[in-house]
Amino acid sequence: MLNRLLSYRIIWANIKSFTKITHSRNRFFPTLSILYIVPTPIGNLADITYRAVEILGSVDLIACEDTRVSKTLLSHYGIEKPLIAFHQHNEHKQVERLITELKTGRSLALISDAGTPGISDPGFLLIRRARQDALPVVALPGPDAATTALVTSGLPCDRYIYEGFLPHKKGRKTRLDRLIDEERTVVLYESPHRIMKLISELSERCDPDRMVAVTRELTKTYEEVIRGTIRQVSETLQERDGVKGEICVILAGKDYKE
Ligand code: SAM
Repeated sequence: MLNRLLSYRIIWANIKSFTKITHSRNRFFPTLSILYIVPTPIGNLADITYRAVEILGSVDLIACEDTRVSKTLLSHYGIEKPLIAFHQHNEHKQVERLITELKTGRSLALISDAGTPGISDPGFLLIRRARQDALPVVALPGPDAATTALVTSGLPCDRYIYEGFLPHKKGRKTRLDRLIDEERTVVLYESPHRIMKLISELSERCDPDRMVAVTRELTKTYEEVIRGTIRQVSETLQERDGVKGEICVILAGKDYKE
């Protein structure tokens, strides 16, 4: 009975929302109780789709990681919407709140600080819960550092695996050992203060002639790709005082040769 009442309430809220939107915009814009997953730029603010901007401008609420970061993007596009903080420290608690918002007929866009929510960013718990509760989820295609790094690396893109960040301590060795035997191209995220450690760990384990690309600051002013064998890339990095910026590492599969 309660479930049925809740369903009627969602349907009524959707009708109200539909009427409001079709009257207020020239274009049909379906935002009814929907959870939108909206990718945002990984550096260059222009890297956002028309549809993403329209969705962000039409939803009732935007869930984001750091409200200060998202405000910069949103104000660049003249969007003013209520923001709800949704980050790794409050994710579990906020899922309930956001699901309730959706169930009362509100539309919600989920964004992260950069790139695609859910990709080494909060999102999975909320999306899973929305799916489990049969709430509509619409994911927009858009920027992510992994794909951008992969295609710019000049290493094979036909078969690849996304490993994200390796664990810092427990389990790191096992994960690294598995990567050594990987035939597909591997995509890794790494912080600037750990990149030398990662490259030296790869040097110790892999054939020194295996190809790797360290991509940094993609889409930004100082975008750079340091590409070569592990030995060459390691030497290049050692010649520097340090490496700054956001980094994505692309490691070729074990049998790939140039
Ligand atoms: N959700 C994001 C995505 O779709 O790519 C990833 C978020 S994760 C917390 C942040 C990591 O992504 C950074 O530490 C870095 O490894 C990588 N990254 C983000 N922006 C980047 C950029 N402009 N260039 C290279 N790597 C980047």
